[in-house]
Amino acid sequence: MLATLPLLENTDFPPIKRSTLDTLQVNLGYVCNQQCLHCHVNAGPNRAEIMARDTCEQVLIYLRATPSIKTLDITGGAPELNPHFRYMVKTAQQTGVHVIDRCNLTILSVPGQENLAQFLAEQHVEIIASLPCYLEENVDRQRGKGVFQDSLAGMRQLNALGYGQKDSGLVLNLVFNPQGPNLPAPQAALAADYKKFLKENYGVVFDQLYTICNMPIHRFGSTLISKGQFHTYMQLLREAYCDDNLETVMCRNLISVDWQGYVYDCDFNQMLGLPLHWHTPIQRHISELINVDLEENPIVVAEHCYGCTAGQGSSCGGALS
Ligand code: SF4
Ligand code: SF4
Repeated sequence: MLATLPLLENTDFPPIKRSTLDTLQVNLGYVCNQQCLHCHVNAGPNRAEIMARDTCEQVLIYLRATPSIKTLDITGGAPELNPHFRYMVKTAQQTGVHVIDRCNLTILSVPGQENLAQFLAEQHVEIIASLPCYLEENVDRQRGKGVFQDSLAGMRQLNALGYGQKDSGLVLNLVFNPQGPNLPAPQAALAADYKKFLKENYGVVFDQLYTICNMPIHRFGSTLISKGQFHTYMQLLREAYCDDNLETVMCRNLISVDWQGYVYDCDFNQMLGLPLHWHTPIQRHISELINVDLEENPIVVAEHCYGCTAGQGSSCGGALS
C-alpha cells in the first residue's frame, strides 16, 4: 500500500508560460513488465490502462495538424505492450516526425517481442532507456531481480543492429536517476564512467547518458514518506533551485497526452492529475486542441516542479545546464 503524499499544489514556484510546441509526448498506458521502486507512473503488470486505437488516431490527427511538432516521444508503462504501438510508430514516421521510444530494455526479451528491436531499427526510432546505474546490484535493487542482466541482453540486441554504434544513425541513449533522495551527479562525468564501465565489463555501447532527478511523486514519493525523508528531499530540491533552468524546463515546448487522450503540461503533471489549463482549469482532450496555439499559455506548476530546476536541472532529455 502506497503512503499518502502531501498536496503539492500550494507552491511559490515561479509562474512560467509555454513557448513553441515541438514535442508531443504520448503515454500509451501504464502496463509494464517491470515494477520499479522509482517509477513515477506506478506502472506494472497489473495495470489495465492502455490507449485505445480511436485515441491513437486522435493523437495522430493532432500530430498531422501541428507542423511545429518535430518529435513524437512515446512512453508508458512499457509502450511496446500496447497493441497499437507499432501502428503509431509507422504512421508518425510517415508524417516525417522523429520518433522516440522510452524503452525499458527488458521488454526486448519478453515473449512475443522477439522482433521488436528489428522493428525499431527499421523505423529508425531513437531509444531512450532507463539504466539507473552501471552496477548490477543497484539496478536490481531499484528495478527488480535480474533486470540488470536482462537490460544488458536488450542492449546487446540493439548494438548488434547498429544502435549506439558510431555513424549508424541509430541512437540509443541511457537514463540515470539517483538511487535515493539525492541530486544526480554531473551528467558529463557520469556519462564517461558509464561508457567506460559498460564497454570494458560487458562490451555494450550507447550514445548519450541523461541524468534525471527523481520526482517526489507516486512510488518514489511514497517511499520517501514511509522513510520519513519526504520533507528533507523537498528542501534539498528547493535549496538547489537554479533560475537558469527555468528557461529550458521541458514543459515550455512539450505537451503530454495520457492514455485516454487528455492533455497536460508534462508527464509529471499527468501523473498528479494536474491538467493543462486552456482558458479554464477543465480537462482538455487532444481532439479539442487541434489548431489551438498554446504559445504563451500559462503552465500549471506545483511543488514537484522544483525537481526540474534543482542543480543542473532535469528533463526527459537529461540535465538542462
Ligand atoms: S520505471 Fe519504467 S520500466 Fe520501471 S515500472 Fe515504471 S514504466 Fe516500467
Ligand atoms: S514538473 Fe517540470 S516539466 Fe512539469 S510543469 Fe513543472 S517545471 Fe514543467
